[in-house]
Amino acid sequence: MEKLSIQDASRRLNISQRDVREYIRSGELKAERDSDSEHGRWLVEMPGDDWQDKFKTYLDELDASITRWWWTNKQKTGYVHYLEKTGIENVEPDYLCGHRSENLWSSAGHESNQRCIECLMRATEQGLPLFEEEVSGG
Ligand SMILES: [Zn+2]
Repeated sequence: MEKLSIQDASRRLNISQRDVREYIRSGELKAERDSDSEHGRWLVEMPGDDWQDKFKTYLDELDASITRWWWTNKQKTGYVHYLEKTGIENVEPDYLCGHRSENLWSSAGHESNQRCIECLMRATEQGLPLFEEEVSGG
């Protein structure tokens, strides 16, 4: 069983370090304290390929989902930002306006006036779909 530091596991699995810790907490990933380390760092057991496949499937579903607008915090405060593409290669979401966040939360039910104006302008400029009807080609 291969064991990696949280940093290395994050690179290997293409997810943020925060996600790695979250998965350890939730039991999705197994980890143990490194007994050789002075600082008691965590070593993450690398899961089999099927684990990453499961995660990729989740991201593919995200990618295929209709909305491109996302909350950038759990509390769903501030503005929703526009994400052109969610993908396994992006460790962190990269919004049109340049805003960065470590994770994203579904914006289902948000109001149009809650959209980030910078994202909105850029999406419009680039002819990207803004509304669900336009995305589905209705
Ligand atoms: Zn934005």
